[in-house]
Order: sequence, then C-alpha cells, then structure tokens
Amino acid sequence: MTASNPIRTRIAPSPTGAPHIGTAYIALFNYAFTKRMGGQFILRIEDTDQTRYTRESENAILEALRWMRLAWDEGPDVGGPFGPYRQSERFAMYRDHGLRLVEAGHAYPCFCTGARLVKLREEQVKTKANPGYDGHCESIPPEEARRRVAAGELHVVRMKIPADGECVFRDRIRGEIKIAWTGVDRQVLLKSDGYPTYHLANVVDDHLMGITHVLRGEEWISSTPKHVLLYKYFGWEAPEFAHLPLLRNPDKSKLSKRKNPTGILYYRDAGYLPEALNNYLGLMAYSMPDGREIFSFDELAATFDLDRVSLGGPVFDLQKLANFNGQYLRRMDVRALADRATSWKLNPSLWQRILPLVQPRINTFSELVPMTAYFFADQLHYPPAALITGDIDGLRTARLLKIAQWEIEKTAAWTSEVIKAIFIGMAEKETLKLKTLLMPFFVAITGAPVSLPLFESMEILGKDMVLRRLQYALEALAGQGFTIKGKELKQLEAVYEAACAASKTFITS
Ligand code: GLU
Repeated sequence: MTASNPIRTRIAPSPTGAPHIGTAYIALFNYAFTKRMGGQFILRIEDTDQTRYTRESENAILEALRWMRLAWDEGPDVGGPFGPYRQSERFAMYRDHGLRLVEAGHAYPCFCTGARLVKLREEQVKTKANPGYDGHCESIPPEEARRRVAAGELHVVRMKIPADGECVFRDRIRGEIKIAWTGVDRQVLLKSDGYPTYHLANVVDDHLMGITHVLRGEEWISSTPKHVLLYKYFGWEAPEFAHLPLLRNPDKSKLSKRKNPTGILYYRDAGYLPEALNNYLGLMAYSMPDGREIFSFDELAATFDLDRVSLGGPVFDLQKLANFNGQYLRRMDVRALADRATSWKLNPSLWQRILPLVQPRINTFSELVPMTAYFFADQLHYPPAALITGDIDGLRTARLLKIAQWEIEKTAAWTSEVIKAIFIGMAEKETLKLKTLLMPFFVAITGAPVSLPLFESMEILGKDMVLRRLQYALEALAGQGFTIKGKELKQLEAVYEAACAASKTFITS
C-alpha cells in the first residue's frame, strides 16, 4: 500500500428489503480491514433492479449501518470524489461500457425471444443438458447485428465466455479457486431496456471507484469468473477478492428469517447493543491473536488480518448473542447503563408517540407501565392457545400469520395507514370481518386480545419487531401442533401470490 494507491473497500447493498444482518457482518469486516490498512470504506447503493428497489429500504440501510457505527467515508449521503454512489444515477456509464465491449468483440447483441429461451430451457431439461443460453446469436456477423440494432430490433447484450478451460483466480482467504468455463453462463450485461445487470454495474463501479479489495459473501464466488473476465475484457486490473463464509442457522442452513431474525433493526429494537452485536459478528469468522472473545471494535480493527479469517460455517446463535449482550450490559457503570437504556426506548420522544394511545384509557399513571409493557419487550408471554380465537382454527391462524408476514415484508412504507390497508385487504380477500381477522394479531403483537390500537402500536414497534412477533406466534402455534410444513408453505405462497396477481379472493382454511 502506498499513499498514491490506498486501500479502498466497499459495501454494496441492494435496497430491496429490510437491511439484513449479513450486510452488517460483511460491512464490519470491510470496515475493520480498511481501518487496519488506513484506507477508505465506501457505501454504494446497488439499485439497478428498479422494480424491486425502494427509497425506504435505502434509508433503512443507512439507518441500520449508522446504528451499527460502521461509518463510511464516501456514500450517497456524504458524497465523495467518485460519486454518484447510487447506481441508478450512473446508468449512462454502464451503457457506454457495455457497448464498448460489443465494439471490442467481447460482447454481442442477442435477439433471442423469450419464447425461444423457454423452448431451449425445456429441451435442456429433456436432454439433461447444461442449462443456460446456447450462444445462438454469437455467430451473427457484427455487421448484420449492427444493422438489426439500428433498425430497433429488441435485444440484450451478452458477454462472451470461453468455450473451454477454466477460470483461475486468487481469493485472499481461500487461495486459488478454479471454475470451469462450461459452468459459467453467457451473462446478460445490458437488458433490453438498456439497464445494466448487477455484474456489469458492479465491475464498472468497482473499477471507476478505485476499489482495491472486494470483501463479500461466499455466495458471490460463482459470479467471480464473470467479473474477472470483465476486468480482462476492459483491460483493467482486478481488485483482490476475499469471500467471507456465510452466516448459518444453528442447523447449519444458510441464515434465514424463518429460523433467526435477520433484520438489523430488530436487534436495535429488541435492546441489543451495537458494540455487542459487532463483537459477536466479528467472532463469526475471526479470532483475536490472544484468543479473547470479548473485544471492542477498535481492538478488532487494530489487530485485523485477513489471514486470521476462518472459513468454517459460522453459526449465528441468538442465545449466544444475548449472553454477549448481557456481558456488555453488566460491564457498564450505572450512569452509562441509564444513558443507554434511555436512548434505547426509555425516552420522551418514544413516550410522546405512545401516550396518545393510552391517554383516553387511563385514570392514573400507575396504569401506564402495565398497559404499555409490550412496547418495551421482545418475545411476549401469553398462552399459545390465546392465539386461536373462536372463529378461526389453529391452522388457519398460522396461515394468516404467514400471509401477514409476506404482506408486511412487501411493503416499503411503514405507517399505521399502510398497515391498516394491509389488514383491510387481507380481510377482504379472506372474506372475514376485520375485527375477527385481527384477534390473533392483537395477541401476537400486544400479548392480549384487547389492547391499545393495533395499527398504531405496530407502527411504533417497527416493522422488524412486528415480523419477529408474528414469527414468535407462529412458533407458539407450532408448539400446539399447528405447523405449515415446507411443501405446504411453498404451495400456500404460490397460490396466494397468484391470487394477489389476479386480485382474487383468497380464503385460507
Ligand atoms: N449488490 C450486491 C449485494 O446485494 C453486492 C455484491 C457484491 O459485494 O459484489 O450483495
């Protein structure tokens, strides 16, 4: 590393849902590495998929990473010399670069219709051939391709992939990785609307932003050959790659929200400390030279070394994290503890949101705390049978909770009006009275069948906590024997999605 060639890293989240704990984990390792090397850490928003992108989700990412205290040196909010830092504001660059590859013969327009691709896929399934595009348009003479493009024929731009041999690249943690080119698809770089795909935009940006080290999750290893090849096609030096091991559930499956809360803001709202969460995430793939398990962020950054990153499937264990958090709380002096608890939820600004809900219902202040306790809790304690009300049986309750989770995950805005609209929509679809539909939700969210206004409570609790409470309720029902099994769940999701797409009534039973 020299002054003229400093280390530059980035985190490049796609803002398509609640900010994920995996993003915090990858950001932490980038941040620690960058601090140790004295470089710059960049936040880039990868919002090329305009159909799935929402500004609320981008804001939530910034909020979540700020809460984690992972400060970036350049980004959409703070600016910087290599901006803009939002891919949607850089579209012209990707198009220019994509067309440059066509000119150079490394990429080509592909005019294949959707129908041809479907047929191809069916044939490949029938003959058990390798799936993927067959390179049909690669042999069109460039002159003819240019003419067809000029005539306005619909097309995408695909990259050429070597017919044989293998891609060999070095991973800073894993060593040499070899992937046969026959297993790499002829990636679309520019879609028919001229928008780039992730692969093109990511490589162009990493180069133009001077990124020297790409530390990202192992799920991107299979994409790396395409990236390495793109660097070669452009004549650029590729950054160093380091693929971190994926976080796992205790059963070793990939960390999923069905088994663990995955929203960063859930951890904030459930009362975890960011320093404990950072410490725990750090331990997922790193060990301190002296073997200490409790370490501060600065201590991590001071000793950080990619050679000490371990590759075993790190298990994210909620109980272990809670124990860590407890240790942090116990080490604080009482004044610090009071400050932190106050800034968490015991503060006037939160009370000012909660009090209007209680004001019409209390005679004395002594009723305040019991009535509002659920705002300050994580898991609520109610008898699981309370979730099953007279009109809806256990299994249907479970299905309704599941559908509500999907609906809530889909929404970007989080206000009581939006939440109300979700439940009114569900009640209509289910041909249930709103009041009947809401009964299990009152229990799941507030712990009791009668409580303060539900939609306002959900708004104040926050989306991540609401999703978690619905999950707790599903687990409570499962304990009573009302479970939706994997296959059935997939079926429910497919039928429900289809009903939504057709705006049809959908009645769970
Ligand atoms: N936008 C990608 C993501 O959502 C970035 C992957 C990468 O770091 O290259 O994770």
